[in-house]
Amino acid sequence: MQKCIQCQTPFKWSTVYKSLWFAYSPIHCNNCGTKHTITFTSRIIATIMLVVLPLLWMNYSFNEMAFDATISFSVLVLLILVSLFSPFLVHYNSKT
Ligand SMILES: [Zn+2]
Repeated sequence: MQKCIQCQTPFKWSTVYKSLWFAYSPIHCNNCGTKHTITFTSRIIATIMLVVLPLLWMNYSFNEMAFDATISFSVLVLLILVSLFSPFLVHYNSKT
């Protein structure tokens, strides 16, 4: 999990997760208040995990020809797990 660049205080999972869902809003360290913004690469990773993959899933699930409830449900569970894991994969930088 990402730590504060100034004081090494680890960010909470929930803080990073919320930041990802609120348009990658900056994270302020609980300990020293340093502002951290998401890196460009992390933004791309998060967009793929939280937007592109769910869209592909929806595209599949609404396509009746290819629809298989078991596969669709399994992939949905996988997407939720991927989304929960995403705070571990993204990185933030402080601009000081
Ligand atoms: Zn800090």
